Amino acid sequence: MNAAVAGPRDPYQDGQPQVLRSVAIPHTLRGFDTHPHHRTFDVHLAQGQVQRINPSDADEPKAWLISAPVDLHTHLDKSYTVGEVGAAQGDLGTAIARMAQHRSTWTADDLHQRMSRALQDAWQHGTRALRTHLDWVEAPAPLALAEFEALRHAWRGRMELQCAALVPLDVLDDIRAGARIAATLADFNQRAGTRDAALMGAFIYRNERMDDKLHRLFQLATQHNLSLDLHVDEGLDADARGLARVAQLTTHYQWGGRVVAGHACSLMAQPRDEALRTLVACQRAGVHLVALPTTNAYLQGSWQDTPLERGITRLREAWAHQMTPSVATDNVADPFYPYGCYDLLESWSLAVQLAHLTPAHEWLAAITTHPAQAMGLPWDGRLRVGAPADLLMLHAADPWSLIPPGRLPRTVIRAGQVATPSALGPANPTLRGPLFA
Ligand SMILES: [Zn+2]
Repeated sequence: MNAAVAGPRDPYQDGQPQVLRSVAIPHTLRGFDTHPHHRTFDVHLAQGQVQRINPSDADEPKAWLISAPVDLHTHLDKSYTVGEVGAAQGDLGTAIARMAQHRSTWTADDLHQRMSRALQDAWQHGTRALRTHLDWVEAPAPLALAEFEALRHAWRGRMELQCAALVPLDVLDDIRAGARIAATLADFNQRAGTRDAALMGAFIYRNERMDDKLHRLFQLATQHNLSLDLHVDEGLDADARGLARVAQLTTHYQWGGRVVAGHACSLMAQPRDEALRTLVACQRAGVHLVALPTTNAYLQGSWQDTPLERGITRLREAWAHQMTPSVATDNVADPFYPYGCYDLLESWSLAVQLAHLTPAHEWLAAITTHPAQAMGLPWDGRLRVGAPADLLMLHAADPWSLIPPGRLPRTVIRAGQVATPSALGPANPTLRGPLFA
């Protein structure tokens, strides 16, 4: 046991939690009928599942209970490269160029190291499913794909993993390159025996002849039965209008429910009416929106002065228009974002503060139920009888303490058991530190 484990109680000494007493559960995560005056619950666990949820007598919660988080948008292949590559300080173009240079030096070995370390970190913080983009800049598959496949296999039964090809949209100018990428992804899914182990994706920003290339993207997706996960409009130029077109094409190709759009920061720079029209079109088309607050706050807005504009997307308006937006981690310790870790609650906390998400506890859906839906996971992340007991207990007595000074203390519960070091996956000597603090 690590002596540095902090928090109100030591999870390793608690043994097996059979009843989680007097916990608060956000309304957005309740999959059971409840009366408005029921503020706290006793949650009984048995055989790795939620067995019973009863209203508790306690007025004040001892903790908040949520389903284990789902990280919809990450970049495992780039993580932990900032020491070698340097940080880009607000310039996405510089970050892309530096990364391209560094990418040519990647080996299977260091990809394996970095990606394993990232997964271990996510797992220790309680994540139950994660999707990563993999840089994919020419027709042949990147080295990272084989590493991802091996890791997906190694983590099976513990963390559900999906990948999306991160292809510069202009690469699709080359018809044969696009076809080869899509065929490689379809083969991956066939080997995995599941539809969304690998997705098609693209980086879309004010491209020339964007329409032709987007049509090509959707044609490849529909022909090869690939869901799409896109980097779209990642910047604060008001004329970045890729998302509106993605919504139209999702409807045109009847690909609703199979398209995730990440970033969409230019919605912040556009007139409100225009941004709302785009969001409504996304909702009708079945496009899922994901905000990446850490990377976009770092890369966007001024670096000459204190930034006035901030890189995020219109999360509140999206939810108000019946979308179910997510918040995800994006980059960790790379030129795009030199800080951070795979604690999804950290990204959530930043989003709450940057975008005035309120009430904050209901927005925990943006890192649990909403991304679970977008990833098509078997469990929607709502707490109900029969749900898997893969949970996160957040040690906060009131909603305000969900964003405490320092990291939020928590207890990770896997299959009804408090997670112990041996249950946390293969030992990784590079990662010693507090697990729950
Ligand atoms: Zn990204």
